Amino acid sequence: MITLKEALTKSSEELAELRAELETKAKESGLNAYVGFESSGKGVPILIKDNIQVKDWSVTSGSKILQGYIAPYEATAIKNLKSKGMMAFGRANMDEFAMGSTTESSFYGATKNPHGTDRVPGGSSGGSAAAVAGGIAIAALGSDTGGSIRQPAAYCGVVGMKPTYGRVSRFGLAAYASSLDQIGPIAQNVEDAAILYDAIKGHDDKDSTSADFEIEDIANNLNPDAKLTIAVIDNYISEADEDTQKAYADTVKVLEEAGHTIVHKNMQNTKYDIATYYILATAEAATNLARFDGVRYGTRAESKSTEELFFNTRSEGFGTEVKRRILLGNFVLSSGYYDAYYVKAQKVRHLIRDEFNAIFEEADLILSPVAPTVAPKIGASEDPLEMYKSDMYTIAINLAGLPAISLPVAKDDEGMPIGLQLIAKAFNEKTLFDGASSMEKAVNYSK
Ligand code: GLN
Repeated sequence: MITLKEALTKSSEELAELRAELETKAKESGLNAYVGFESSGKGVPILIKDNIQVKDWSVTSGSKILQGYIAPYEATAIKNLKSKGMMAFGRANMDEFAMGSTTESSFYGATKNPHGTDRVPGGSSGGSAAAVAGGIAIAALGSDTGGSIRQPAAYCGVVGMKPTYGRVSRFGLAAYASSLDQIGPIAQNVEDAAILYDAIKGHDDKDSTSADFEIEDIANNLNPDAKLTIAVIDNYISEADEDTQKAYADTVKVLEEAGHTIVHKNMQNTKYDIATYYILATAEAATNLARFDGVRYGTRAESKSTEELFFNTRSEGFGTEVKRRILLGNFVLSSGYYDAYYVKAQKVRHLIRDEFNAIFEEADLILSPVAPTVAPKIGASEDPLEMYKSDMYTIAINLAGLPAISLPVAKDDEGMPIGLQLIAKAFNEKTLFDGASSMEKAVNYSK
């Protein structure tokens, strides 16, 4: 597949041919990565996750409850990419309302991993990552609330980047957990990820959490020769499986050989990451999803009264995982438990952020696994608690609001990709991408 950088030099005729080719190949691939083939705008086709509004397209967040809903306006990220020679092309499959780590909870059925079609592509942006890895998308947009860009990118052997909270407008992104969500790029390489990130970033009056200060363009100024201080968290890595630990150790070595300084650190609060995230994310999700009641959006169930309308629409429209999280979220917000769970989790969130900031006093970047294992088999993630645990390396970054990028570094014996992530200080995307392009060069994954 041609890169995004190359595609931006193609004529409109060549790009029209490419779109037709992508559609045919996607249908023949059997990956179930696309759930629609709409197009909007002109230029290089970018695949869009099904929770980002493209005006006049269906947008369903992978849910039954939003079937029939048509986006009345355009997300700012889409508007921005359209002004940079790109267009929206195709809907990417995802876990219902971005809740999940496998893309199996989608109303449209599971997406398959192109490296092993009995494996999941990760989630929730599994359609976006599988399509880029499978050569049926040049690049894609995903969203990351607790790892949903970085983890599928790692499982599929592509690059996925989560911007600092506030860098990319959330206007037009279906809210899962508003204090954690960010839209970001999934691409074939670091430079393409930077091009797409540059295109979508920026202040937006329509998002009250959007950061309002100058940002430099990154792709044109990428410096793979920057010499950085990279922290490795020694007590963090032991939870990962053997192959991941080996890939980690090998990567630390090549980074050192490339001239970076490695510093060794420990983190004390990581054991609270999963509990903190699943309290705060479900609390926000329960609140955000209260709007889907059959009155304003999507499908409406048969009913004889208003109460029955709400009850039936939500019972029939939401899948199991979404219902579980609405119940959990309402529980932690209920008056009897609010202080014990929600308030405590907010306090721990601050401790987690402070611990990252302390490390960034001495390091430019942190290197960490993305997931403890390679992509699991389809059907193997039925226990929700086990699935939540697999998010252990990604969710703290969202709790702290930091930018991070996941890139492939190795493959296991069965040819399944292993990814690692670099994490940077808030709003330090330039250093993040410089480090990533250096690591990409040093690791030489495609060889
Ligand atoms: N797997 C995590 C969850 O289920 C993260 C999902 C995401 O980033 N959208 O909440």
